[in-house]
Formats: sequence, structure tokens, C-alpha cells
Amino acid sequence: MAIVVMKFGGTSVADVGRIRNVARHVKREVDAGNKVAVIVSAMAGATNQLIAWANEASPFHDKREYDAIVASGEQVTAGLTAIVLQSMGIKARSWQGWQVPIRTDGAHGSARIMDIPGEDLRRALDEGEVAIITGFQGVEPGSNRIATLGRGGSDTSAVAVAVALEADVCDIYTDVDGVYTTDPRIVSKARRLPRVSYEEMLEMASSGSKVLQTRSVELAMVHHVRTRVLSSFAKPEEMAPVKVGELEDIGTIVCGEDEIMESEVVSGIAYARDEAKITMLKVEDKPGIAARIFGPLSDASINVDMIVQNVAADGRHTDMTFTVQAAELPRALSVLEAAREDIGNFELKSSDGIAKVSVIGIGMRSHAGVAAQMFKALAEKGINILAISTSEIKISVLIDAAYAELAVRTLHSVYGLDAA
Ligand code: ADP
Ligand code: ASP
Ligand code: MG
Repeated sequence: MAIVVMKFGGTSVADVGRIRNVARHVKREVDAGNKVAVIVSAMAGATNQLIAWANEASPFHDKREYDAIVASGEQVTAGLTAIVLQSMGIKARSWQGWQVPIRTDGAHGSARIMDIPGEDLRRALDEGEVAIITGFQGVEPGSNRIATLGRGGSDTSAVAVAVALEADVCDIYTDVDGVYTTDPRIVSKARRLPRVSYEEMLEMASSGSKVLQTRSVELAMVHHVRTRVLSSFAKPEEMAPVKVGELEDIGTIVCGEDEIMESEVVSGIAYARDEAKITMLKVEDKPGIAARIFGPLSDASINVDMIVQNVAADGRHTDMTFTVQAAELPRALSVLEAAREDIGNFELKSSDGIAKVSVIGIGMRSHAGVAAQMFKALAEKGINILAISTSEIKISVLIDAAYAELAVRTLHSVYGLDAA
């Protein structure tokens, strides 16, 4: 029998009716004799509501209390899922992060999982009980406080539990039936990828494809977790249960490069709206300046994405441009102002309403001209590029957010990704 981890996202557990549907997926695996651990998200919209309440209480709230609040959404769905399974005659119980325990570091609001002792869970599974585990949350052992893993964190909970249980597969059930060449809600011609490599999925996730949280892909890659993305809306009884040693090619399998027969030069287009751009003008060009700028931002847990430093035209001053999440812009600006004494002279310019569009593919390693093709296509649509960054398998550009969808659609067809 196989050990199966099944994760269900917010839309899949949006109400009790949908939770009943989730339970039928679980039943299929239990009936086949598999040992099942289920990871659930909060009901769709619940986490947003909880965050809004925390912000309403105070915009400058204690991050530990924020975590205590937002972790509650998953507690509800875990309990409901257990009740529904029990009502179907299946042995099941809910587990909160601290009960497993899922141990995290102390970075409240975006904690990382440090370790999951799997013995208690394994014992429960051995006794034929389905374990329903709250996604998104864990406990920081030092302070014994609840910590959450950042938006979309239930994916990471699922992969981490799969590692702890040495599961045969980590199935991520969501509201689309796999990973597509781009967000299928934006581009109707997007195509499902039967397989995608960890490396590409990592770049897609970190560039804004929120179908999997970035950290979950990192974990899956490091521990070689066979991860599948599937639709929870598919008929539960029409799907085959998981079998040891063979993984049916449905949905999308995230796997090693060596397991992918043929790959396109470009396999996906990702985009992230809600970016903001900060330009620091006339910064002194001397050793240590970047550390003095980005040190305080990192201390304030502000994620800086693209960084572009211009050459100093006069040999003494330079301009530094970088991006942060639009929601973090006010905080980033005040951190920089507070560090003014240490950084030295600079002028600040900033704008939100920026989008990042990225073209991703392992084939880029061996193909030239991908970037040139991207710039030409955007130019033909009159889309201005504000900044460019590249990695071995990705090219990203910053553009005005108003053109994001046009850019994604254009690039999707330029690289031959459109469905027939
Ligand atoms: P869940 O609540 O199940 O975790 P999410 O909303 O976090 O679901 O992720 C699923 C969504 O990700 C899809 O509805 C889709 O709009 C979006 N998405 C973005 N990029 C992609 C992509 N390349 N392939 C599939 N879905 C994508
Ligand atoms: N409920 C959390 C969120 O909305 C975690 C998740 O769904 O993965 O971000
Ligand atoms: Mg998600």
C-alpha cells in the first residue's frame, strides 16, 4: 500500500458541500488500502478576511498575534473534513500544526518549516486513521507560539509532511487540473503541461505563478518528492487510486529534468502584478553601499526582487533601482528614510502599478535568441521595458501593469505555446 499526501486548497474546501467532495477523494485512497495524510487550506476567502480584521484592529500589529488569528482558518476546515470523513465511516482526526508538531523558525508571517517529527502521524496512519492536518501553520518551539508560512503556505505544509512520512506522492488538488504554460484564467489558449521540471516550476512559482508556493517547490526539489497538481473538481470515483511504484500521468507531475522526454525552449510565462519600483538617485558609489541599503530592508523582512545598479557616470554617484511588493512600498520607503544617515545622500523615486513578466524554460540553456525575441515582441506591441533581469532559465522584464495581460498573451503565442 502507498503512503499518500493529499492537499486541498481554499476553493476545494470553500463550503461543506465541497468538503464532502474532498472526502470522496480521500475515501477512494482509503478504500484502495492506502495510508492517507490530508493537508487542508482555509475556506476560500477566509484567510483574506482574517488578515483584514488584523489590519483593522491595528495596521502595526504584533506579528505573533497576526499568526494566531490567520492560522484559525485551517483549524476550521481540518475539523470539518474529519467530521465529514467520520460520517462516511472512515477513521479520521484533525491535527493542528503544534500537535504534529510542525516546527518552524520564528519568522512570524513567513516562517520556514525546520523539522517535522513524523512518529505520531505515522502511528496514526499505521492504525488506519486518516490524518487531517492544518496547512499553512506550525509552531515555533522556542516561544511555543503559532507561526504561519506565508500566503499559499499550505502547499509547503503538504510537501514537508510528504518528506516526513516518506510518502509515495504529494498530490496537490486545486481548482485547475494542472500546471499550465501560463495562468489559464488569463490566457484561454494556455496548455496543460503533463510534466514540468522542479527547476522550471521553481522559477514559475517565484515569478508569480501562484499555483504552487515557491518554498514548496524548493522542498520537493531538494527531497525529490514526487509532486502532482490535480483538479479536486474531477469526479473522485473516476480517478485511479495511487499505486506504489507507478504514478499515473494525470494533471501535472513536477519531477526531475531527466524524467521529461522532450522540452520546449520556453515552457511557461509567469507574471506578477502588484510590484512597486523604487529608484534611489545619486547614491554614493563606494564599497558597502548596497549592503547599507539592502541590509535594513532585509532586517525589516521586506523582500527585494529585481535589483539594477547603473554605472556611475561621474565615477562617484550611481542610481539603484529595485522592486518590492506594492503592499510593502510604504514600509520600504520609511526603512530607507530611517537608514539615511548610514546610507548617505540619495533622492528617492517610487511608483507602484508595475508588473513583472517572465519567460521560463530549461531549453534556454542551449538556445540563443530567446531574450531578443521577447524584446522584439514587446516592442511591436509598444510595451516599454523598465528593467530586465535574467537567470540561466528565465528572462524577466518589468513593465507598466496595464500591459501585463497583453504582454503575457503576446509572449505566449510568440513562443509557440498557444493551444491549437
Ligand atoms: P489553491 O487555493 O488550491 O491553493 P491557488 O489559487 O493558490 O489555489 O492556485 C491555483 C490558481 O493558480 C489557479 O486558479 C490559477 O489561476 C493560478 N495559476 C497561475 N499560474 C498558473 C499556471 N501556470 N498554471 C495553473 N494555474 C496557475
Ligand atoms: N490559507 C492560506 C492562504 O490563503 C494558505 C493557503 O491557502 O495555502 O494563503
Ligand atoms: Mg495556493
